[in-house]
Amino acid sequence: MSKIACAITLGLLSTVAQAAPFRVVVDAGHGGSNTGAPGLNAGAFEKRVTLAVARLLAEELRRRGFEVVMTRERDAFLTLRERVRRANAALPDCFISLHANASGDRARRGVETFVLARDAAEVEARRAATRERDDVQAMLAELRLLDAHRASAQLARAVQAELVALSGAVDRGVRQAGYDVLAGVAAPAVLVEMGFLDHPIEGAALETAATQHRIASALAAGIAEFANDVRSPQKLVMSAPDATRRPTP
Ligand SMILES: [Zn+2]
Repeated sequence: MSKIACAITLGLLSTVAQAAPFRVVVDAGHGGSNTGAPGLNAGAFEKRVTLAVARLLAEELRRRGFEVVMTRERDAFLTLRERVRRANAALPDCFISLHANASGDRARRGVETFVLARDAAEVEARRAATRERDDVQAMLAELRLLDAHRASAQLARAVQAELVALSGAVDRGVRQAGYDVLAGVAAPAVLVEMGFLDHPIEGAALETAATQHRIASALAAGIAEFANDVRSPQKLVMSAPDATRRPTP
């Protein structure tokens, strides 16, 4: 089967999938003995902020009619492998991992959203292809992951724009990184750094319910915008593979 025929097959699959509810995996970063970055106050840790926002985000998404699967719903330790396994088992339409930053010098602030670096995404796509039994399945697996990577950037832009607009945070942009949790997930995937826990103003705000609600609303709005985009009729055109490959910036 040619790459174009594969792309058409993928397009048809996504058309069939339109009837199903949009499923989001929400991953609260860290947990249990893996506390993440410390906050300003004694006992304040990243793992608590990520879980609080994850719960609010799940609530908001369900209110909007999305299906939500959380990788963890309480303060529990999860290996990276288990996080990825839980995410993929849910067969999600997208995946969002929540984190908060710390700079060490208490000077930095702002939000940033990460997608998997393009070269890492290509390696993952090839790896997925080698696991398949025949050439057609291998090509479909590779195209599906490359398609998911392109969509990750779209999801990241939507989420980052809503976060900056709704929370008024400093825009540190959409960035690329080789995070393992993003590499393992077979769906559009982003990792959001929701702010700096050790910044005197931003860090204190991140621990308040009001800020956590604002962030959750912004993330839900970004995900809803992404879901609308990928479920619109233009999806068939937008998901066609690039004719040329660009180098990773
Ligand atoms: Zn983190």
